[in-house]
Amino acid sequence: MTDSIPALQAWYGGTFDPIHYGHLRAVEALAREVKLAQVTMLPNNVPPHRPQPGASSLQRKAMVELAIAGNPLFRLDIRELQRATPSWTSETMAQLRREAGPDAPLAFIIGQDSLLTLRTWHNYEALLACCHLLVCRRPGYPVAMKTDEDQRWLAPRLARHADELHRQPAGKIYLADTPLYPISATDIRARLAQQQPCDDLLPPTVLAYIHRHALYRQP
Ligand code: ATP
Repeated sequence: MTDSIPALQAWYGGTFDPIHYGHLRAVEALAREVKLAQVTMLPNNVPPHRPQPGASSLQRKAMVELAIAGNPLFRLDIRELQRATPSWTSETMAQLRREAGPDAPLAFIIGQDSLLTLRTWHNYEALLACCHLLVCRRPGYPVAMKTDEDQRWLAPRLARHADELHRQPAGKIYLADTPLYPISATDIRARLAQQQPCDDLLPPTVLAYIHRHALYRQP
C-alpha cells in the first residue's frame, strides 16, 4: 500500500431487526482480518425482497445507535432510512462511489447466506463494479455456491489475499475467515415472542430498548 491510496472504507447493510452479536462480532473480527479502520452501518428501509420488519425504521436505527455507542470502529449512515423508495444496495453503493471518487477502495459487507443469493440481487454486477464484497462466514451456509455455474462466476472474482482489497477500488469478493456466530434476528424475534432469554445474543442496551418499547411480543 502506498500513502496515496485512500483507506479501504466498508459499509454493512442489513435490516438489523434487531441488530445482534452475529452482526457486531463477525464484523469486528472481519475488521481485524482485513484491517478496516471504520465500518459504516447502513440499515435498510424497505428491503425489496423481504417481509416488512417487526420494528419501525426509527426503532431499528435507535437499536443500531445503542449497539455501536462508544465503539470507534462503527458509524451509522441513515441515507436508506430517509428514502421513501426501496433501497437497492447497488444504487446506494453507486452513490457512495460517486461521493468517494473513482480510486478509493470501497467494500460492502455481507454474510455467507447473502453471498449464496447474490446473483438474484438487483444489478449485482453493477454492485461489484462499485465495490468489493467482504463475506463473513455464517453457520449453516456452505462456502461453495449452489450451482457449478455460480461457482464458475465466483472463482475469478475471489480475492486471494486481503491486500488486494486495498490495492484496487472494487470488483473483488473476499471470503473472510471469521468465527461462526449461530445467531439470527429471526431466532431472536421468535425467542422474544416466547419470553425466552436472549442475553447472550445481543447487547444489553439493545435488549433493554426492546423490552422498554415492547417490541417483538408477537411471533
Ligand atoms: P433475519 O433473521 O431477520 O433474516 P439476520 O439475522 O440475517 O436477519 P440481517 O439484518 O438480515 O440479519 O443481516 C444483515 C447482514 O448480516 C446480512 O448480510 C447477513 O448475511 C449478515 N449476518 C446476519 N447474521 C449473521 C451472523 N450470525 N453471522 C454472519 N453474518 C450475519
